[in-house]
Amino acid sequence: MAYQIGEECIKCGVCASECPVSCISEGDATYEINPDECIDCGNCANVCPVDAPKA
Ligand code: SF4
Ligand code: SF4
Repeated sequence: MAYQIGEECIKCGVCASECPVSCISEGDATYEINPDECIDCGNCANVCPVDAPKA
């Protein structure tokens, strides 16, 4: 199961630079994770200031 970014996202962009497979991109309301590429490493959740990415 891929991680998903919730509405808490403030679009700071930190997670995108920490993703080892570069599967996070800026969406309209939040940053978004491509579920087909996410390897469930948890880096995005660890660096997010508002705890938006959830397993
Ligand atoms: Fe990228 Fe890892 Fe977050 Fe998946 S869990 S989006 S691979 S940083
Ligand atoms: Fe959104 Fe958190 Fe990623 Fe920042 S680190 S863009 S708040 S999900």
